[in-house]
Amino acid sequence: MPFSISSLRQSKLDHRPYAGSFHPATELLSHPLYKKACEVIDRSTVRFTAEHIRICEIPAPPFNERERGDYLESRFRDLGLADVHRDEVGNVTGIRPGKDRSAGLTVFSAHLDTVFPVGTDVRVRQVGSRLCAPGIGDDSAGLATLIGLIEILAEAGIDLQTPVAFVATVGEEGEGNLRGVRHLFNGGALTSRISAFVSFDGTGVEWITHQALGSRRYRIRLDGPGGHSWGDFGVVNPVHAIGRLVARLADYPAPLKPRTSFNVGRIEGGESVNVIPIMASVDIDLRSEDESELTRLEAFLLESLELATDAENRLRASSGRRLSSDVRLIGSRPSGEIPPDHPLVRSALEVARSLGIRPWLNRNSTDSNIPLSLGIPALTIGAGGVSGDPHRLSEWYDPRGRELGYRRALLLLLVTAGLAEVPD
Ligand SMILES: [Zn+2]
Repeated sequence: MPFSISSLRQSKLDHRPYAGSFHPATELLSHPLYKKACEVIDRSTVRFTAEHIRICEIPAPPFNERERGDYLESRFRDLGLADVHRDEVGNVTGIRPGKDRSAGLTVFSAHLDTVFPVGTDVRVRQVGSRLCAPGIGDDSAGLATLIGLIEILAEAGIDLQTPVAFVATVGEEGEGNLRGVRHLFNGGALTSRISAFVSFDGTGVEWITHQALGSRRYRIRLDGPGGHSWGDFGVVNPVHAIGRLVARLADYPAPLKPRTSFNVGRIEGGESVNVIPIMASVDIDLRSEDESELTRLEAFLLESLELATDAENRLRASSGRRLSSDVRLIGSRPSGEIPPDHPLVRSALEVARSLGIRPWLNRNSTDSNIPLSLGIPALTIGAGGVSGDPHRLSEWYDPRGRELGYRRALLLLLVTAGLAEVPD
């Protein structure tokens, strides 16, 4: 079903104010409960990796995250989260309550879906220290971190000052178009209670995404009458027109600053070498750090389409047939950001530095685009460990050093949600 532009734009919503940081990270490092939690982490890395493999081996193709969602839901229940719930779009949520019941929720999240289609072999192979499987880093690693955090809090007996919601979202990748997180912030059961959002997406511990990269994704399809390549020569050819469109777009002078990009990611059409195609279609991804630059690029694409079809129609006018076009906006991700000195960003930086990490800030396209576009504090961070080849069948993850990812995640959770009691 095509999306309409208006259905993809979201209005600003009321939300709970962000309470800010409860404790300095450096103070928590010497807290007995944090130390106890670190002991849990240190003795659990093998278990965390086993959980990670288990999650990765449950297929979660686009628009088909149910089976993996079932597993997360059962784990959330087994680990004692409150209000475990599968919402209307398939997000799995569960809450670790806080002492202050009226306080806003901090969401810790990871996405269920992968980019890999039904039937992809998702079994994990061990090659040296690496785990190899499609989706092993993006985002099985994030989901494993969610489960790990819930286990750590339970086993170390940590009571929180304010509630935390753990959420496994659907539809982060590609044409999923952030549908899970959109629902979470627009009409979901938790919508009005959320005060901050943290997503684990991918690996590493240094990068912190506090700026959302806006994008538009189009599927453009041209149809013509088709025919025999010799006998019907002279009728409009949709592949020729698409070729003109792609050639013009390929020459677009995308600025380096604000960084702007475009990609013709998929092209389809035609039946055989001696058949004039009846159809051709392209999927095109446009991105920019800057919303007005994105709008300019979008206008250029649509103008290119018009010029390309006009040229083909004009050239083949004697046939009396014209191309018809169908333009669908299949994705629209809003941009937005919180400043580097926002309390949530400062907390994340301080947490990293207190653990000896050298953090850096960046802009990316993730589940955080939605809260950031709504003015709700949000970050996306990595789950620890090292990975490569995301979105490819050769994707790999090296779990060595992953405990630092769990420590970082835990410390950020404790700073933002607060320990129920901190001794003097
Ligand atoms: Zn991801």
